[in-house]
Amino acid sequence: MSITRLSRDLFLIDTGYAGTPEAVGVYLLLGDRPGLIETGPASTVDAVIGGIRAAGLDPDHIEAIAVSHIHLDHAGGAGTLTQRLPKAQVYVHPRGAPHLVDPTRLLNSAARLYGDELERLFGQTVPVPESRVHVLADQDPIVLGSRRLTALDTPGHARHHHVYWDAASGDLFTGDVAGVALPRSRYVRAPTPPPELDVQAWRESLRRVRSLRPKRLLLTHFGPHDWVPDLLDQLEERLLQGVETVREDMAAGLADVAITDRLWQAARRDIEARDGAGASARFEVIMPVRQSVLGLMRYIEKTIAG
Ligand SMILES: [Zn+2]
Repeated sequence: MSITRLSRDLFLIDTGYAGTPEAVGVYLLLGDRPGLIETGPASTVDAVIGGIRAAGLDPDHIEAIAVSHIHLDHAGGAGTLTQRLPKAQVYVHPRGAPHLVDPTRLLNSAARLYGDELERLFGQTVPVPESRVHVLADQDPIVLGSRRLTALDTPGHARHHHVYWDAASGDLFTGDVAGVALPRSRYVRAPTPPPELDVQAWRESLRRVRSLRPKRLLLTHFGPHDWVPDLLDQLEERLLQGVETVREDMAAGLADVAITDRLWQAARRDIEARDGAGASARFEVIMPVRQSVLGLMRYIEKTIAG
């Protein structure tokens, strides 16, 4: 665990997910209504609580937790955190709420992707009591710390995805809608896992994000980025490229393993040409290329192929 102060009232807690620094972040907002954006997975709840303490706050004072979406690396820790943070209420997209209350389907779907690794990576995902789950609709306000944020429906990576917009500062907490971009790198990975990927919806969400003219994107994977237009353009390009490449490979009769291999090699070359040898490994921890390929294949089968 480590924490970084990003503003007077804002900290980034590095959960150390999968033993990897700068992979999964949780934002801590201080003020009248102390709160978190994202929880990280259940496996790193101790790190989150340690981060709250390290920022000088008694964890008992956390009142609100807003999650971008309910994938396990973003919200898997919500159940355990509500057990450990007595005052914390959890805020989520309407389509995500049922999965926080009963994570069975979510866990089954994750088990198909992660197999035996599921529990080692994500820990024991437990339900959030229904009385502590609160639904936010598009454009609903939520006070976190000293900031008045707005939840904005931004589907694409998942159907149930919010970003949290702070119009006063220009900060946008992006979840996965701005992709994966790591500190000291200008490469953006498009996280396109199954089952809900919708590239067309994602492009519309990117238009919405651009129209806000955010000054700073605060990514869950990972941290603050101020090269906003370039980051968003690169992500959109990579999404389109991904669809195109996978569609061609599918048409040529390649199976998922062969497509994954080709995309993985291409991504590695691209990342290492920019960031040096070995730099692609940390992207792979956060969003394995294989999952992105499976998501794209499913999207293509659903929408384009027919
Ligand atoms: Zn996700």
